[in-house]
Amino acid sequence: MSIAPSPTVVLGTSFARELPELALPWQAEAAPAPRLLALNDALAAELGLDADALRTPAGVELLLGLAVPEGATPVAQVYAGHQFGNYSPRLGDGRALLLGELTTPDGTVRDLHLKGSGRTPVARGGDGLAAVGPMLREYVVSEAMHALGIPTTRALAVTATGRDVARETMLPGAVLTRVASSHLRVGSFQYARALDDVDLLRRLADHAIARHHPEAADAEQPYLALFEAVVAAQAELVASWMAVGFVHGVMNTDNTTISGETIDYGPCAFMEAHDADASFSSIDSGGRYRYGNQPLVLQWNLARLAEALLPLLHADQEQAIALAVPALERFVPAYEAAWAGRMRAKTGLPAGLADDVAGPLVRDLQALLQAAHPDHTTFFRALGQAARGDVEPVRELVLDLAAIDEWLARWRAVGPDADAMDRVNPAVVPRNHLVEEALVAATDGDLEPFTRLVAAVTSPFDVRPGDERYTEPAPTDFGAYTTYCGT
Ligand code: AMP
Ligand code: MG
Repeated sequence: MSIAPSPTVVLGTSFARELPELALPWQAEAAPAPRLLALNDALAAELGLDADALRTPAGVELLLGLAVPEGATPVAQVYAGHQFGNYSPRLGDGRALLLGELTTPDGTVRDLHLKGSGRTPVARGGDGLAAVGPMLREYVVSEAMHALGIPTTRALAVTATGRDVARETMLPGAVLTRVASSHLRVGSFQYARALDDVDLLRRLADHAIARHHPEAADAEQPYLALFEAVVAAQAELVASWMAVGFVHGVMNTDNTTISGETIDYGPCAFMEAHDADASFSSIDSGGRYRYGNQPLVLQWNLARLAEALLPLLHADQEQAIALAVPALERFVPAYEAAWAGRMRAKTGLPAGLADDVAGPLVRDLQALLQAAHPDHTTFFRALGQAARGDVEPVRELVLDLAAIDEWLARWRAVGPDADAMDRVNPAVVPRNHLVEEALVAATDGDLEPFTRLVAAVTSPFDVRPGDERYTEPAPTDFGAYTTYCGT
């Protein structure tokens, strides 16, 4: 039996109540002809929602924010942010809404959020809408990231609205129903700081501590501990991106979360040829957000968070800075340790291997990858085969055979664990040509390629028979890949 979900879903309003300065009560725009395109059954179950009920007309109304449970207060969140290094004092959910906070059966609190739900008071020049393609793109890439074990916002559903949106051409519109442990960002703190309202800043920090880093509340200096926790979470996050070859593409401070989750799948891409300079976004001509620059940019964003938090760290600005700087400086060693740990795992190094052996192995491999530009994903799976004794697939990916042979000999001598490698090196990532193929078909009404792609990328460590094409790099005629923002 399926029950209409709307009356049974309870949405908390702590963000709207505790931080009214950052929350503009607002409503989603009506959809002329809603049609559910994708529903994430596994996530619905995790959230304690009945997926069958979500498929009913009343469920779809909930997924679109058109029927909100009693007591809920949908809001557009206001924030600021540095975009490509330039400060925008007032951004916010121009086409998004926070419906409220769900408490899952295991007691965790998750935001239920919409993207593409119509113009809000902070829409600026935008139309408030989103097209089917980019919303399905966020669905498939964020679910791939989750399956890879990388903290991320999740995609509960994509619903076509029946309204066309004007982009370069007219495209079918859609709403993404997104789930996140919160939507607090560095830009939220920048906004509160710019209002020069220390009470608001403190309420925001307290809210962030309660939701994400509760242990900070017991620290001698809770706000410094909050900052340290964000530094640590983001160091882990960016290291996990680097390990799988993920290029976020728009690491503005409004897209850097306090939770340490990946957010905002606009112009992101998984690189194929390993390259520190890999960059895909049409508007990132300077390569600010290129693959190899992501750790540096993240630290820059954390410096903006530190600036915003200064009034909470100490009444005297010099003393506040003296507290913030060492905490910020911990980012580099934290990132390096996180990255080295992932590289050790990716190369199957035995747990007890001494740092003075593991360190050079990892660094030399990094140099080899940067010189040879092999397909990042294929290389590490081929390395698993090499650990089993078949070195040819790896050798085929590297031109400098003398260099790779020397490295392989040194590496195999330490006894790498091939099975452990296959558990951390994905065979399947959402490759750009497959994502594009699936989105083009979906925009034309054929969801089959999208559904198959989601199935393949959400089981990234196994290749099911018949799914081999999901492991292969783009054909050469696919050409250079470009991604676009704000679609
Ligand atoms: P993003 O690059 O996706 O993080 O977006 C940057 C800002 O632009 C955010 O404040 C978005 O809410 C806003 N925005 C993006 N696209 C639109 C749109 N079509 N209509 C209104 N606001 C938008
Ligand atoms: Mg954003």
